[in-house]
Amino acid sequence: MSVLENGNLAALLTPAHHALRARARDFFTDARLAGWRESANGPLTGRAWRELGEAGYLGVSLPTEFGGAGLGVLGSLVLGEAVSRLGDVGLPLGMHVQNEVACQWLVDADPALRAEFLPRLLDGRLVACQADTDPSADEPTTAVRDGDDLVINGAKLFVINGAVAGLCFTRVLLDGSPAIVAVDKDRPGLRVAEVYDKLGTRSADSARLEFTDVRVPATRIVSSGGVGRHLRWNRVMTLLRFLIAADAALVHRRLLDRITRYAGERALGGRPLAAWPVNSHALARFRADLELAEAGVARACARLDSGSWPVPEVAALKWFCVERACALAAACCDLEGGAGYMWGNPSLRDLAQLRGLRMAGGSQTTMLTITNHSFAARAEWDTAGVAR
Ligand SMILES: Cc1cc2nc3c(=O)[nH]c(=O)nc-3n(C[C@H](O)[C@H](O)[C@H](O)COP(=O)(O)OP(=O)(O)OC[C@H]3O[C@@H](n4cnc5c(N)ncnc54)[C@H](O)[C@@H]3O)c2cc1C
Repeated sequence: MSVLENGNLAALLTPAHHALRARARDFFTDARLAGWRESANGPLTGRAWRELGEAGYLGVSLPTEFGGAGLGVLGSLVLGEAVSRLGDVGLPLGMHVQNEVACQWLVDADPALRAEFLPRLLDGRLVACQADTDPSADEPTTAVRDGDDLVINGAKLFVINGAVAGLCFTRVLLDGSPAIVAVDKDRPGLRVAEVYDKLGTRSADSARLEFTDVRVPATRIVSSGGVGRHLRWNRVMTLLRFLIAADAALVHRRLLDRITRYAGERALGGRPLAAWPVNSHALARFRADLELAEAGVARACARLDSGSWPVPEVAALKWFCVERACALAAACCDLEGGAGYMWGNPSLRDLAQLRGLRMAGGSQTTMLTITNHSFAARAEWDTAGVAR
């Protein structure tokens, strides 16, 4: 079983989705992933991205008029299911940034900017990152205008694809307002200051980028100022958070299948571990969580593909899927006893991946804050009789 067998989603799968699913299952193998990595446990090389592009796995969700495969968010989910079998969440995270975040910025961007970068993102010659996280709220990355140029100063932390990327969608404060600027990596003054040694998600690199008087033409502004910028930001981040929620649900299913087998076979005190009430209750709860997570993923996917942008609902979904998958991974490590504490233990490895998903796309606390504020505002509008 998989989230794609959820009745609501299964009905939406077209022959093109089925063909992608079959093709991707054969393509994403452990051996291929091993050949793509810089070292045994290291990140993907640029060559891997070119192969992904040549094989047609970049831009799957993007409309055909922009050079994509036109398979929508559901297409990304189909791809996510195949990639998830590799057991490392770095590759899906890196692909979401390339396929959904970067491509989405360019779809909405000025046509000249789109023409310059989008084809190379789709064929994998160019890798993108989203440089968002400042060292602190008091140290924002800034851009100031100088003639026809912008001059950027600051630093960005924990950037997925930051080392391998050639193009950085960088969030800056421009004239005091947030803006997104596309910065090519080879601009003087932009450097990879650190590549982090991460606990999980290791097949994508995470890097600290530093900008010192980096000069780019002002035509590289992708989005700036006002409500329009805010809406586009919400759209891109909602797409990313949805895919992270789906990644967590896919890990949840893998963990649950494995621990159900294990706890059914491992006998302690005369009966299988799973037959002890304390464990059977916990496992039943985790099964119910999976049903809820997959139903939420199916519903959100259908809504996103129908053109609506359910920002707080997706924030709540990301919170739920990641929170419950983390709890399950920790419980699996306990159920596996001493073995659950050893390097290489699959549950421990998944717990590490899921720790990353707690922060990727915004922290779990941020998800709760978005959800709480939006739902509270809606409740107040409803009470006041305001039409929405
Ligand atoms: C796997 C992974 C991938 C990532 N990918 C990227 C990427 O591609 N690009 C990028 O720019 N960044 C990326 N990040 C960074 C991520 O977005 C940030 O780590 C995250 O937003 C939290 O920011 P921070 O690390 O500065 O923590 P802080 O802002 O210091 O927050 C620490 C904790 O405090 C909580 N907190 C903060 N303010 C408050 C408050 N007022 N009240 C209560 N609690 C609060 C936060 O929710 C969080 O739990 C990634 C991180 C990880 C782990």
